[in-house]
Amino acid sequence: MADQTTQMELGEDYPEIREAVRRICDDFPGEYWREMDAASAYPEAFVKALTESGWLSALIPEVYGGSGLPLRAAAVILETIHASGGSAAACHAQMYTMGTVLRHGSEEQKQACLPQIASGELRLQAFGVTEPASGTDTTSLRTRAVRQGDHYVVNGQKVWTSRALYSDLMLLLARTTSREEVSRPTEGLSVFLIDLRELHGNGVEIRPIETMINHNTTEVFFTDARIPANTLIGEEGRGFRYILDGMNAERTLIAGESLGDARYFLRRATDYACEREIFGGPIGRNQGIQFPLARAHAEAEAAELMARKAAALFDAGRSCGAEANMAKLLCGDAAWHAAEACMQTFGGFAFAREYDIERKWREARLYLTAPVSTNLVLAFIGQHVMGLPKSY
Ligand SMILES: Cc1cc2nc3c(=O)[nH]c(=O)nc-3n(C[C@H](O)[C@H](O)[C@H](O)COP(=O)(O)OP(=O)(O)OC[C@H]3O[C@@H](n4cnc5c(N)ncnc54)[C@H](O)[C@@H]3O)c2cc1C
Repeated sequence: MADQTTQMELGEDYPEIREAVRRICDDFPGEYWREMDAASAYPEAFVKALTESGWLSALIPEVYGGSGLPLRAAAVILETIHASGGSAAACHAQMYTMGTVLRHGSEEQKQACLPQIASGELRLQAFGVTEPASGTDTTSLRTRAVRQGDHYVVNGQKVWTSRALYSDLMLLLARTTSREEVSRPTEGLSVFLIDLRELHGNGVEIRPIETMINHNTTEVFFTDARIPANTLIGEEGRGFRYILDGMNAERTLIAGESLGDARYFLRRATDYACEREIFGGPIGRNQGIQFPLARAHAEAEAAELMARKAAALFDAGRSCGAEANMAKLLCGDAAWHAAEACMQTFGGFAFAREYDIERKWREARLYLTAPVSTNLVLAFIGQHVMGLPKSY
């Protein structure tokens, strides 16, 4: 049963990808990210460099103009960006949001957008799921799309729609049948691939939200926005399932970013702990400094194994919900523990912006909350993996 075998490489995987991505990142040092952060600016030059080198089209099959790489390779790309001190958050969704179209769109829809997404001519990196009133409880979302002839009319509001001002297209989850009319709350939700270029200022208003990290996130308001019926992906009413489908890939990729963050903090902290001499010796000889770093290193190594397992299962076409969630949890925790240990190692200098530690610390914290919060991952493991009672 060859298809039942899942191979997992040990040692450094995709060294040539790591090296190529590292070379790009060398042109975008801490100073660049600090400037972007201070100005809450979109890192356009970095995104352009990554797009032109083809890395953002890693997951698009070759037949649609991408490089058709496995999920593990894409996770390595993101890990390398984060390990270098940068952040892929401005463009990571360009890699994977298209997955919903790829898996559930019609051939016509795929032909119409995937080659242009692969080349970077079109950006699809906005994903409108979360709403102010429903939050984590996705099936309670209130944005409605009502069919009128060859269009749907959309009314409602999304929140935390990241990169909407830097995206041509947006994947939208809206209710097409009211909750009262469906037997299960997961039914009656539909996914649309909408063109923000046509809608912005024409039924759609996008307002930036100021946040503690530079994330270019927004609120999106829909007021009688008319979207063509052919923007519906797959079957009407089955959108929740399509969205869930993409989440395992997203979680495995975000785990890669957290792993990169952990590597960054541990490298910076180790170097500093060896150089900084206080009380006549390097601070790293003190167990209060050394042990939290050693523990975070062990956690990152273990978390990486789970991330590789999740990717290996995904790439083999096998179910990987448990592993993708656990990878996201463990890599996020490893990054956060490394971030805290690094903050402590740098002492007061951790607070000085020019050291980049406080910026990365703020950025690493996001992944305990989004794209899915730690509690919800634990609820998934408790309920779906271990069979414990459901809390919601
Ligand atoms: C910077 C940023 C970018 C984001 N980008 C996007 C995006 O591009 N697209 C998008 O759709 N969303 C995005 N999000 C939204 C993100 O996914 C949500 O913030 C997150 O899922 C939590 O939703 P909420 O903030 O409404 O929290 P709530 O749902 O209000 O939850 C608050 C807290 O209560 C906990 N909680 C709730 N219910 C339970 C339960 N049953 N058991 C245990 N704990 C529970 C949650 O885990 C959380 O810790 C982004 C968020 C941020 C901060």
